[in-house]
Amino acid sequence: MNKTVLSFLAHPDDAEILCGGTLVRLTEANWQVHIASVTPGDCGATAANRWEISAIRTAEAQRAAEMIGAVYHCLDERDGLVVYDKPTVQKAIDLFRRIAPKLVFTHAPRDYMMDHEMVSLLARAASFVHASPNISTHQLREGSGVPYLYYCDPVGGTDPLGQEVKPTTLTDITAQMDKKLAMLACHASQREWLKVHHGMDEYIEATRRHAMERGQLIGTLYAEGFIEHRGHAYPQDDLLANLFEKKG
Ligand SMILES: [Zn+2]
Repeated sequence: MNKTVLSFLAHPDDAEILCGGTLVRLTEANWQVHIASVTPGDCGATAANRWEISAIRTAEAQRAAEMIGAVYHCLDERDGLVVYDKPTVQKAIDLFRRIAPKLVFTHAPRDYMMDHEMVSLLARAASFVHASPNISTHQLREGSGVPYLYYCDPVGGTDPLGQEVKPTTLTDITAQMDKKLAMLACHASQREWLKVHHGMDEYIEATRRHAMERGQLIGTLYAEGFIEHRGHAYPQDDLLANLFEKKG
């Protein structure tokens, strides 16, 4: 089987927060991991201009990806201004075309900020059409097809109207939690300003709390939650559950 997974999310630290533990588990099962952020997070700090922030944050994301042997990609859209339009959809398609993922993680369709919702749409469009011969000038790779698509939890586990989101799939990441947090800690620029702002290590602790809440749903210490996309032409079986849950 083509064991290539793509995390396709908006900002440089979203992968570590939303699906990092599951990505670690996949590398342990010999999957090739690609981590893409659609923006370099160029509005995610106050002490530098957007170009300096982009350089800092993409370097942080690169370091986090390297910790698990993953490849980092950035689509270089602007933070806070991600849109669903023809050029951006094409950019997403071309990335999917080059990677040919079997498994994709993206944002929840309804999430706390619009970049996340736009990226969710981009992932949905690109996952469906990237393997059509005429959609891209990049060569079609063997094994290309409509991948398994999973939506990560919205940030905080609730939609924008405050409704709790119920995952269809929960991955036990207890054994991978230290590495997930070590990857997250690579994003020092984000961790530091939250530390100053909150007077505590909220960046790490909020992620730990959410993973504990998800873990309680399946009787483990830590878990990550996902909802599988089950639209026409997508795989209908639960790949993550088949890979991990049976082994406990
Ligand atoms: Zn984000």
